[in-house]
Amino acid sequence: MNNFSGIYFHIPFCPKKCLYCDFFSVTNFSKTLPDEYGKVLLTELESRFGELSGTKTVSVYFGGGSPSVMSEKFYQKFAESASKLGIDLGSCEWTVEINPADIDESWIKNLKNCGVNRISLGIQAFDDAVLAEAGRRTNVADMEKNIPLFAKYFDNISCDFIYGLGKNREINHELTQVFELAPFKHVSAYSYSRPERKNAPELLDEEETLLQEKAIRDFLQKKGFSRYEISNYSLPCFESRHNMLYWTYGSWLGIGAGAASFIRKAGVSSRYADDIEAFVSGDGLSSWELTLREKIEEFLLMGLRVKIGINTNDSKDLFGKSFFELISGKTVSDLVTEGFLDFNEKSGVLKCTAKGSDFLNAVLIKLFDAIRC
Ligand code: SF4
Repeated sequence: MNNFSGIYFHIPFCPKKCLYCDFFSVTNFSKTLPDEYGKVLLTELESRFGELSGTKTVSVYFGGGSPSVMSEKFYQKFAESASKLGIDLGSCEWTVEINPADIDESWIKNLKNCGVNRISLGIQAFDDAVLAEAGRRTNVADMEKNIPLFAKYFDNISCDFIYGLGKNREINHELTQVFELAPFKHVSAYSYSRPERKNAPELLDEEETLLQEKAIRDFLQKKGFSRYEISNYSLPCFESRHNMLYWTYGSWLGIGAGAASFIRKAGVSSRYADDIEAFVSGDGLSSWELTLREKIEEFLLMGLRVKIGINTNDSKDLFGKSFFELISGKTVSDLVTEGFLDFNEKSGVLKCTAKGSDFLNAVLIKLFDAIRC
């Protein structure tokens, strides 16, 4: 069981809304708002960092939205605040998400100088027709020019890729071209889920979606990547620490409008409202204690997404009872017999097989029904 923690900052500003996007972000904001918002992010960090006491902070993540909207000074000030709080940024994985359309060499150099050591690029597709259908602000020619510049400053670069969107794509060809631009170490490949918005792109049929996913999987496997979580692939030792905290039941502090937190020791979750004005004026944070059932569901929901699975022996420390006092052993053994789960009695590790990962929702429904509390 890990005792690690991370800090997530949500930067909810985007110059333009992508048509497929369902994250909380706004496009209409005053020039001065990001600075004002940045100040509140840092005061919130100062007042809430104590919630992570007793854990070791191993990851800092700026996501969005578009973190590139924030000034160079903001990241310098964050580094100063972190150091005052005793956060050792040098030993953290410090990630900033960037849209490859946003490139300003001095801004990128500044990130590097502040201590950022990982970049996550929202590439999504490498085909102009698909990028246009998705309403992205970037095109292939821009990316060909910009991506190598990120590689000039950073070794550890991840990219986001979307599938299930855009007909007749040659995903293998798209990825081949993308990998010629930078030595990516990590890829997050997400299945498009259509937001309820009139102009959102249509979903592909299931067959084409699966073919696109398989093309990504095959390409990355040939490159030596391991699928360490359902939607995430990495070279050895380049798994995202930030994501692993979610999946291995670590604690994280999420700061910013729309950001959520989970503090394991206290069993408490909290969330800021999707409301920038409320956040800037110090309102909009609500928190609640999770019930035992919710904690177990979270443990299963997150832990079974990752290749390493969960260790059932952690149950006593986490929930006060052994795993099989809390979950029907018969359901688990049926799922093992049916080939969905793999259970190692000696180590206590329970994980999904490849078949189980493909049918994870069905597996979780059965396990949730088998919880005895
Ligand atoms: S840049 Fe990212 S957060 Fe902003 S609209 Fe596009 S997908 Fe959504």
